[in-house]
Amino acid sequence: MPHDTPLIATIVAGLGLAFVFGALANRFRVPPLVGYLVAGVLVGPNTPGFVADAGLANELAEIGVILLMFGVGLHFSLKDLLSVRAIAVPGAVVQIGFASLLGVGLAWLLGWSLGAGLVFGLALSVASTVVLLRAMQERRLIETERGRIAVGWLIVEDLAMVLALVLLPVLAGVLGGQPQADNHSSLFFLPASYGIWGVVGVTLAKVAAFVVVMLVVGRRVIPWILHYVAHTGSRELFRLSVLAIALGVAFGAAKLFGVSLALGAFFAGMIMSESELSHRAAEESLPLRDAFSVLFFVSVGMLFDPFSLVGNGLPILATLAIIVIGKSLAAFVIVIAFRYPIATALMISASLAQIGEFSFILAELGVGLKLLPEQGRDLILAGAILSILLNPLMFLIADRMKPWLGKRAGKAAAPEEARPIGPATEPGQVASVAAAPEKEDGPPPRTALSGHSILVGYGRVGSLVGAALKEAALPFLVIEDAQKTLSKLKAGGIETVAGNAANADVFSAANPEGAKRLILAIPNAFEAGQIVLRARAANPAINVIARAHSDAEVEHLKGLGADTVIMGEREIARGIVEVVTAKAGDPAEPASAVKPQLA
Ligand code: AMP
Repeated sequence: MPHDTPLIATIVAGLGLAFVFGALANRFRVPPLVGYLVAGVLVGPNTPGFVADAGLANELAEIGVILLMFGVGLHFSLKDLLSVRAIAVPGAVVQIGFASLLGVGLAWLLGWSLGAGLVFGLALSVASTVVLLRAMQERRLIETERGRIAVGWLIVEDLAMVLALVLLPVLAGVLGGQPQADNHSSLFFLPASYGIWGVVGVTLAKVAAFVVVMLVVGRRVIPWILHYVAHTGSRELFRLSVLAIALGVAFGAAKLFGVSLALGAFFAGMIMSESELSHRAAEESLPLRDAFSVLFFVSVGMLFDPFSLVGNGLPILATLAIIVIGKSLAAFVIVIAFRYPIATALMISASLAQIGEFSFILAELGVGLKLLPEQGRDLILAGAILSILLNPLMFLIADRMKPWLGKRAGKAAAPEEARPIGPATEPGQVASVAAAPEKEDGPPPRTALSGHSILVGYGRVGSLVGAALKEAALPFLVIEDAQKTLSKLKAGGIETVAGNAANADVFSAANPEGAKRLILAIPNAFEAGQIVLRARAANPAINVIARAHSDAEVEHLKGLGADTVIMGEREIARGIVEVVTAKAGDPAEPASAVKPQLA
C-alpha cells in the first residue's frame, strides 16, 4: 500500500471496497448504501487493517454534497423554491424545535448540561443532504411537489445550521462551555466580540449578500459563460466550465459569504437551470456526482466505532428513536396540518428520518467548545450510521402505511383537490400548484383498458408513436413520470399512469395482463430491461417493442424477452440515407418531403 499517496489510497480503497460491498449488498437485496457504509467501517481507524485518511475522505465527500446539490439546483427555479416556502419554513423550524427538545430531554436523563442537550438536540434535528437527495433521486421524486417540499425543507435546515454554527462559539460561555475565539479555520466562525445579535446580523447579511450577488451578477455572468463555451465547440471545455462554476460558486459562497457549500452549489445550479444548456450541464456532472456521493457513505462509515456500541445500548436506542420516530412524527403532523395528502406527509417524514454531515460538524464543534461530552459525539455518530442504514426501510414502511392510513383518513378527510396550499402563499402560486394537483395517495388506479398498447415514455420518441397510435385509432395508455408531460397528456385527453414504469404498482396499473403490446420508448436500456422482465412475468404473450441506442443494448433487451428492439442510431442513419438517395435519384424532390420513420 503506497504510504506516500494518501489521497490516491483513500480514493482507491474507498471506491474499490464500496464497489465490492455495494455489489454484495445488491446480491443480497439490501440497498447498496449499506455496502458503502460497511466499506467505510473496514477502511476506518476503528477496525484492523488498512486505514484510509478520514480527513481526506471527508473532504471528498463534501465534493459529493456540492455536486448533488448542484444537480438538484439544476431542476429548480426560484419560483419552485418560493412556492414551497409556506410549508418548508414552518415545517423545518418546528421540526428542529421539537427534535431539539427531545435531545435536551435525553441529555437531561443522561445527566448532561443544558448546553450539551441543546447541541445534541440540534445535531439530531438536521437531515443529511446526501441521504435525502439520493433517496429521492432513486425514487424519481425530486421533480414532484413532495420532492420540492423536501428540498425546500432541507434548505431551511441548512440555513438554520449555518446560524447555529456561528452562534455556538459565541454562546458557549453562557451555556456552560468554554468560549473559543482562537484558531477557527472553519468557514463559519465570526469573532465572539460581535455579540449574539451582531453575529446573527452579520451572518444573515452575508447570506442575503450572497443571494443578491447570485441573482443579479450570477444570473447574467453564468449563462454568458456557458454560451461562450458552448460556442467554442469543445466538449472538454464545456464540462470543465460546468464543474468550475459548480465548485467555484460553492467554495466562494462558503469562503466569502459564510454560506454552506451545499447552499452555494444549489444556487449555482438554480442559476444555470435558467439557461437552455442546463440539461447538458446536468448530464456532464452525473458520473462525478455518483462517485463522490458514494465516498460520502464511506466517510461516514469510517467515523463509526463499532465498539462504541458496547455498554451504550440504551442511550443509542433512545438517540435512534428521536431521529427515526420523534422527527418523523413531528414532520408528519406538520405536513398533515398544512393539509397535504398523507402520501406527501409519509414521504417527507421518511426522507428526513436520518442525520448526517451537519450533525458531525455540530458534534465536533460541541466537543471542541467543551459543551458536549465525548459520549454525545459517539451517540450522534452511532445514531447517524444506524439511521442511514434504516432509511431505506423507512421508505418501505411509509409505502406500506400509505394504503392503511389512507383508508382510515379517507372517510373523514376533504377531497384532495380542495386543499389550500397554506396561509402564506401568494395568489399566483396557489393557482400554479392547484392547477396541477398531484394525486399521490395509494397505488395509481388500474386502467379499464384491455387489448391495448402500453406506451412507456412520452418524450421525443414516445410522443411520435403516441400520435401514430391515436391516428390509427388503436387503444393505448401512456406511463410517464415527468409531471409536465403528464399535464400535457391529460389536457390532450390521453389516458396516463403517472410514475416510474419500473415500479411494480405503477406498471400493474396499466393492466399488462390484458394488454396486447408494450412499447418502451425510454432511453435507459437497463430500466427498460427491468420493465420487460415485469411484462413477461405478467403476460407471456404480450408483444414487446423496445428502444435502444447500441447493439449491446439490443442484445441485452432481446435477451430479457423483447420481441423487437429498434436501435435509434440505425434509424437516424436510415433517415439520412433516404434523404441522400431521394435527392440523388430525383433532383426535384425536396428533402422535407421525406417523412420521418416511426419503425
Ligand atoms: P425521450 O428520450 O425524449 O424520448 O424522453 C423519454 C421520456 O420517457 C421522458 O419524457 C421521460 O420522462 C420518460 N421516462 C423515462 N424513464 C421512464 C420510466 N422509467 N418510467 C416512466 N417514464 C419514463
